[in-house]
Amino acid sequence: MLILPIGIILFILYQQIGLLSILLIGVPVISLTWILKLYKQSKQINIHLKSAGEFGHQLTQKLHIDGVLELFINRISTIVETEQGYIFDIYNAEKEIHLLRYFENGEAIEKNIEPLRNGLGITGEVWQTGKALLFHSRKEWKHLDMGIIEPNIESIMTIPIVRDKLVVAEVMLVSTKKRAYENHQMMIMDILCSYLGVAIENARHHSLAMQQSERCPLTNLYNFRYIERELQVQFTNLTNHITKNVSLILIDIDRFKAVNDSFGHQSGNEILCQLAERLNSIVGKTGTLARYGGEEFVILLPNLAKEEAFKFAEFIRLSIANKPFAVHSDLDEYRSKQLVTITASMGVATAPNDADDEQALIRHADRAMYTGAKQAGRNKVAQYVG
Ligand code: GH3
Ligand code: MG
Ligand code: MG
Repeated sequence: MLILPIGIILFILYQQIGLLSILLIGVPVISLTWILKLYKQSKQINIHLKSAGEFGHQLTQKLHIDGVLELFINRISTIVETEQGYIFDIYNAEKEIHLLRYFENGEAIEKNIEPLRNGLGITGEVWQTGKALLFHSRKEWKHLDMGIIEPNIESIMTIPIVRDKLVVAEVMLVSTKKRAYENHQMMIMDILCSYLGVAIENARHHSLAMQQSERCPLTNLYNFRYIERELQVQFTNLTNHITKNVSLILIDIDRFKAVNDSFGHQSGNEILCQLAERLNSIVGKTGTLARYGGEEFVILLPNLAKEEAFKFAEFIRLSIANKPFAVHSDLDEYRSKQLVTITASMGVATAPNDADDEQALIRHADRAMYTGAKQAGRNKVAQYVG
């Protein structure tokens, strides 16, 4: 539309005033082209910014780190052209960069690389300076090659993720095309990467909070809350005939108050921790072990019939009674090591035979423990009899 009238004007003017016409027409035409180009670019930036905002919100709503990374990888190539990409995790304390995810065309792909060092290569420089790096062709970054980038790659864009003035992660996008990335794309990536940083931190906090809310801080075993939920799952499995039965063993240490009185509360805690370890190694993957209360533990055994559960409990009883625990008595001035033998009383109940619901199963195992083991002289395993 422009070229034809401009061409005619230029032709007429050229005949009248000669070479000066080129200047008179050329300058406005070049300026107009330039303005149109800027306009197109700003329109593109607007579109990208809008989708970046949406994408950021979706990212920060994810509660698990795997979900955050998957979403980022899936969407990033629709916003910024990239054939391959790397997400690095930075271990500031160890001064190492680890590959968290590698992806090609929107899909994560397994790739193992040796940890990279601070100050070395592209990632090392970005870590050190905290500034993004943009390369348009292989020539520009060849001297910074770390040996992880494919030989056909030309353009590279690396963005740091900064939290509390520390680079905590990096995203590197690469393309086989020359000049694949422009400054405005780097700006958008910068925004997306800060969303990614917040989303990763959120997800990590969430998983830590989950872990803290379901574990006992002294022994690191699952707690009461966790086992209640697990019991519900097991009862649902029973109802749906996924499992045939579920047994529960309740363990209560005998005369533990006397242990505390003789060696101190701290030593009592030491015993609880060692017992937790011992039980953990016995139970392994056959069931779920939890600290149910002060000196009480519970083991949930899916698909274990009552007789088997009883034998298992008997094995545990002997493993506790036959090997003493080492404590450093806080009532002794030198905190010397002392060996303490403890015993435990246990009750076993099995659903669906002994109980119709979660609470009944616990109650009946507790009853068996109290009447059949404690009252019968302790250091015993008792089964619930209805
Ligand atoms: P038994 O069960 O054989 O009847 O005697 P017991 O002395 O173990 O029973 P009781 O229920 O009377 O007391 C439990 C004691 O366990 C009370 C408390 O001193 C101790 N205890 C509970 N939780 C902890 C804990 O976290 N650390 C320590 N050191 N002791 C604890
Ligand atoms: Mg008790
Ligand atoms: Mg007790």
